[in-house]
Amino acid sequence: MLVMKFGGTSVSSKNSVEVICNLVEANIHKKPVIVVSALSKVTDSLVAICTKDNFSDAVLDNIYNKHAGLAREFLIGNDLELVLKYTKQCLNDVKNKLSKLFATSNNLAPLALKDEIVFYGEKMSSFLIATIIHNITKIDVRQILSSTCIVTNKKFGSADYLATSTKKNTRFVILPLIKQNVVPVVTGFAGATKDGEITTLGRGGSDYSASILGFALEATEIQIWTDVDGVYSTDPRVIKTAKLLPLLAYEEASELANLGAKVLHPRTITPAMLSKIPVKVLNTFNPNGVGTTIVDIVDEKKRRVKAITTKNSVPLITIKSNDMLFGKGFLKKVFDIFARFSISISLISVSEVSISITLENKENINEVLKQISKIGMVTYNEDYGSLSLVGGHIMDTPNLMNDIFTILEAANIKVHMISYSGSNINVSMVILSRDINRALELLHNHFIG
Ligand code: ASP
Ligand code: MG
Repeated sequence: MLVMKFGGTSVSSKNSVEVICNLVEANIHKKPVIVVSALSKVTDSLVAICTKDNFSDAVLDNIYNKHAGLAREFLIGNDLELVLKYTKQCLNDVKNKLSKLFATSNNLAPLALKDEIVFYGEKMSSFLIATIIHNITKIDVRQILSSTCIVTNKKFGSADYLATSTKKNTRFVILPLIKQNVVPVVTGFAGATKDGEITTLGRGGSDYSASILGFALEATEIQIWTDVDGVYSTDPRVIKTAKLLPLLAYEEASELANLGAKVLHPRTITPAMLSKIPVKVLNTFNPNGVGTTIVDIVDEKKRRVKAITTKNSVPLITIKSNDMLFGKGFLKKVFDIFARFSISISLISVSEVSISITLENKENINEVLKQISKIGMVTYNEDYGSLSLVGGHIMDTPNLMNDIFTILEAANIKVHMISYSGSNINVSMVILSRDINRALELLHNHFIG
């Protein structure tokens, strides 16, 4: 079985949908399972109308027209009618649910309802794409709602899957179809709680859902079809000499995604890694490209720094306290506060009397700062970004640290904080946001070329 996930841009244009049909046909002997995102920008629009001020018929009409436009490129007669009716029905549901909510004193959809609303993006795209694939290729297809396969916890907006029940449900739903040579076209992005409430896996989460399905089905390969040629040594829009990386290890890809590379949803790698399923990143707009293959072990002795990734802005907290000097349990108190407010920590550096921490998210930040100020002197700063060099066995790079510091010092770029990963896979630095791109260019030139 082969899981093929197509992102928003891939399901939005006539040419790319033709490529999808060709790919399904060409891979039919591998028993493909198709996973789709919503059409481009549809999730953004659905997120927007979950706020009363942005809720309007114009937005719904625009979503309808996108689907109808694409449908008309391929379909006529009954098939076209079916798609238009399904799309209209979905948007009516959205309208009714939100009108009812906004008629009360609520101005904002609660997280659970928001997940239910945004999931309609994938419902509409999967119905449309399934119908087109069938119409063009005559292959039997079936639209499958991922809410019947992926079981998650109740973390609406950023849920995580529960492996055992997901595996059971997914196999129960998908395997009989595969046996009958039916191609499932599954909604990406969402799952459901044990009680059947819709949850989403975080923005960009269709990659993650493809990996979860691949894990559950014990697929031979998970393909992520997107609109770039694969994973690059850095963002090619920023650095023109960025190089495509044909081969990456799971850990490397995972670090890259976590540390700022946009091409994959950060949690995509984990389920695939559990069953050692290769993940390929491929370009629907250049389907013959080599792409990037992500596997268990990459035995490359040569270049250690493989990629450099940046985040332009990382919230930074510094805490100073003399209690740290001889006190016990100080760090625990600090981390307990972050845990209580569900803030994930990215990088940490600790000295005798101070601790610097960068954060993944800054929700509840004011409350967090208030709590921390009870145990130490705290400063908060948003002027910094992070830059991370990534590569397996990175510490074996000759003169690594020396070169980094020499290059940055010569350019007058100050490193505020540095952190080596214990897994010997990345070196991350916190530097002023305004210096990030300059540092990236210098270090990319030196280590990657
Ligand atoms: N449609 C969702 C989003 O835009 C999921 C995805 O495309 O991966 O976030
Ligand atoms: Mg994506």
